[in-house]
Amino acid sequence: MIEIKTLIFNPFQENTYILYDETKEAIIIDPGCFSGNEEEILDNFILENGLKPVRLLNTHCHIDHILGNRYVSNRYELKLEAHKGDEFIAKAAQQHGISFGIQMPEPAPDIDVYLNEGEQIKFGNSVLDIVHVPGHSPGSIVFYNQKEGFMIVGDVLFNDSIGRTDLPGGDYDLLASGIKGKLFPLGDDMKVYPGHGPYTTIGKERRSNPFL
Ligand SMILES: [Zn+2]
Ligand SMILES: [Zn+2]
Repeated sequence: MIEIKTLIFNPFQENTYILYDETKEAIIIDPGCFSGNEEEILDNFILENGLKPVRLLNTHCHIDHILGNRYVSNRYELKLEAHKGDEFIAKAAQQHGISFGIQMPEPAPDIDVYLNEGEQIKFGNSVLDIVHVPGHSPGSIVFYNQKEGFMIVGDVLFNDSIGRTDLPGGDYDLLASGIKGKLFPLGDDMKVYPGHGPYTTIGKERRSNPFL
């Protein structure tokens, strides 16, 4: 049984997710920790729960989701795993940060391992499936577990909203068709953990999301 911890980090109020199961192996998805204080909050949660981080994943590589990549990768000796489609965004992140007044001391790390639709993420006794839903960014991927009824969607889908599509590589039609064609069929009961704001369900968004 997978436990999901949400930590809200950085000026973008980004949701960082720590998933772990009874084996205490953990994966960290989109570490947004930026200040020393935020890094400590992440470390303390891991320490207090006796967790062993085994993988570092990004749903996509926008700056708010990757600010903690280098710290987590160094601290826990993890490779960065993400979709190749967002590699150019990770490479531009340090430059991009300046326009938001965010000074990254070093460039964001490059992706070490490319993730693709149809592959699985294994940790402890648990497995997540991957589906590729581009449109917010070209390399946006969703991690889900059908049996346990949840998905980690990054900025693809929000409570009553969807990801913005005006950033480089954005495409509204692609995003809307991906959500309807790939996420809705996973079922109304699926709990949706977005990159910002509160969780929702597929059923709620299918019925009332004004952007779909
Ligand atoms: Zn984003
Ligand atoms: Zn975001």
